[in-house]
Order: sequence, then C-alpha cells, then structure tokens
Amino acid sequence: MEKLTLPADAIDNRVLMHSCCAPCAGDIMERMKESDIDLTIFFYNPNIHPKKEYEIRKNENKRFAEKLDITFIDVDYDVQNWFSRAKGLEWEPERGERCTKCFDMRFERTALYAFENGFHTITSSLGISRWKNMEQINDCGIRAAQNYQGVSYWTFNWRKQGGASRMYEIAKKENFYKQEYCGCIFSLRDTNSWRVSRGRDEIKIGEEFYQESKIDPSLTVANSKSLV
Ligand code: SF4
Repeated sequence: MEKLTLPADAIDNRVLMHSCCAPCAGDIMERMKESDIDLTIFFYNPNIHPKKEYEIRKNENKRFAEKLDITFIDVDYDVQNWFSRAKGLEWEPERGERCTKCFDMRFERTALYAFENGFHTITSSLGISRWKNMEQINDCGIRAAQNYQGVSYWTFNWRKQGGASRMYEIAKKENFYKQEYCGCIFSLRDTNSWRVSRGRDEIKIGEEFYQESKIDPSLTVANSKSLV
C-alpha cells in the first residue's frame, strides 16, 4: 500500500477527519495510520435517521477507531438543526442542494472544532463513496475551512491507489454494519420507494452486515409510509 503524503502546505502531521461511517472511513483510517499521520476521527452526522441507525453506524466506527488506537470525537446528534437546514429541500434528489447543505453543516462543525483545537488539516471520508459527487464534497469542505485562519481542507481522492476496492475488503474483514441508504429520512424514503418499485423489501434497520447476517430482534423495521 502506497504511503499517504500530506499536502505540501500542511503545518504538521495532525489530521481531523470528519467520518460518515466505518465502511467509508475504514481504508482511510488504516492508510493514515500506516503513513504515520496523527489522525483524529470527528463523528458528526445528525443527518442519520432514525436514531437507532445513527447509533449503529457510530458504534461501528468507534469500535474500529479503538482497534486502531485512533482518537474518536463523538459530537452531538442535533437532529433538529439538521431538519432546519433541510427544510424546503425534502424532495431534492441525492447529490442535489439538500446534500450540499448537509455537507456544509457537518464540515462547518468539523472546521470549527479544528480551529478551536489546533488542527490545521481537515478532511472527510464522504468522498470515497462512488455514490457521492466528490467535487460537491470538496467545495463544501473548502468553503467550511475558509472561515478559519490556519485550517485547510485536504481534497485527496480516497478512491485512488486502490481505496475504492479496499474499503469493501476491510468492511468484509471487519464485518461492518452495511447501511443501505445514505442516511437521512428522505434518502431512506427514496431508497425504499426504489426497492419496492423493483419488488424488493423495504430496508430493515440493523440487519445487514458485510460478512454475515446478525439479526437483533429488538431492532425496528423501517417503514417508509411512516416517514413521509
Ligand atoms: S441524501 Fe445523504 S448527503 Fe444528501 S441530505 Fe440525505 S444524508 Fe445528507
């Protein structure tokens, strides 16, 4: 695996990475660790709905951070603020304006934390997913960092150097929880509609894992009819 090189203008080797989930962050976390980058994970994702899904995603990421001895910052689940930002954008498609606001919100908080805690380089695991628009993510990250002197957003393309395939290998090896929609209530609604239109069942929160099926009967079943 090729070692990562920080941007030429990086002041030190500390990086604060906004992480969306363990499957997206796994490869990046391993690569940073092996490249002697002093990584801290910043988990701020109030977009994720319902809370049970949020807790599962967060705990998977935390578990892997503990395994690699990486500091994990667990931030608020201020879901009402997220809904305020998304207001009027409920029917936007993925990669549209609602997603820009969603990234902005998460990166603004990341950049603020970086500024207040002496980090100069921030980045995000979001861009590794082929379902995301990397340009949109980078624009949001750069915009957030620009508000704070001494903070820069690292626009590295995590899909390169094998990252896109290794993220799935690690997810399987670590038996990560496999989320089946982007995260918010609207993406859950739209993914369920798409599945139902193809004769598939709606998403069952907490059931799919990359390696083997682990069913916890206490977990709820998502029902899109109750979400709209
Ligand atoms: S689809 Fe994903 S990125 Fe877009 S608003 Fe919902 S959670 Fe955020």
